[in-house]
Amino acid sequence: IEESEKFRIEYWELEEAKLRRTPAPKPLATRIALVTGGGSGIGRAIAHRLAAEGAAVAVADLDGERARTVAGELGGPDRAVAVTADVSSEQGIADALRAATLAFGGVDLVVNNAGISISKPLLETTAADWDRQHAIMARGSFLVSREAARIMTEQGLGGDIVYIVSKNGVVAGPDNIAYGAAKADQAHQVRLLAAELGGHGIRVNGVNPDGVVRGSGIFAGGWGAQRAAVYGVPEEKLGEFYARRTLLGREVLPEHVANAVFALTGGELSHTTGLHIPVDAGVAAAFLR
Ligand code: NAD
Repeated sequence: IEESEKFRIEYWELEEAKLRRTPAPKPLATRIALVTGGGSGIGRAIAHRLAAEGAAVAVADLDGERARTVAGELGGPDRAVAVTADVSSEQGIADALRAATLAFGGVDLVVNNAGISISKPLLETTAADWDRQHAIMARGSFLVSREAARIMTEQGLGGDIVYIVSKNGVVAGPDNIAYGAAKADQAHQVRLLAAELGGHGIRVNGVNPDGVVRGSGIFAGGWGAQRAAVYGVPEEKLGEFYARRTLLGREVLPEHVANAVFALTGGELSHTTGLHIPVDAGVAAAFLR
């Protein structure tokens, strides 16, 4: 056999082995999920959707009270647990994953959703702002993914890691250096980890929302007022403003983001990894005057 032919055979043998090795996604009704920042807004909606599809859910949040409320909404301790956890701390992440594994025996679906927004013009953004923003979103999601991948590869059953990124991680929003850069970091983690973990049947995808005003603690806690000032609209009209600037003219709600997480993890997109799905009613796709 010629060298080139030998290479071809070895290559295909390798690919065949990979095909045999990577498990297909299990139905959501058999899955164990961890949702970071699951106590509010988008994370809460994701936790609700995954639980409605039958998954057992660990709701992790810096705000333990909120996590407990959401876990309570999802059913008894056999369906959902709450954990007070700070994703900017390695201990917090270990606590979150331990809560899920202790309660349900493993983890095979993780949603990196926890986030804050420090959005200021460049010249007002301090090193401390940058560090805090990145500690929670870029570093926090990297560590959550690393520890979840450790568990998933040991289980050998594949799994899903979903990042709730943002339109702002893909295109530039105004006065957004710290938040936008941390989101862009998360966006590339999706591709890097999809490449690294694909051979284990672990799929890594992103969802990019925009303008989810209703239910969002980030919007209620200052970002809304700041954005309203940037865009020159009254804060109470911000949801409507965001809806009007979309291609579809529709307001994006937390449930719409949860729908995308369901689409990615529910089995229908079983051959999709490294993808980002925009849930922005068309904002990132077009330049709108
Ligand atoms: P939210 O404030 O309602 O939810 C965020 C949750 O994360 C809160 O419950 C908060 O307590 C928790 N959290 C914050 N810091 C944490 C930490 N260190 N450890 C653990 N939990 C922590 O906001 P949301 O609008 O639902 O945002 C959820 C995610 O979606 C964020 O990553 C955000 O950047 C992203 N996002 C939101 C929008 C939007 O329009 N609302 C758009 C794009 C992306």
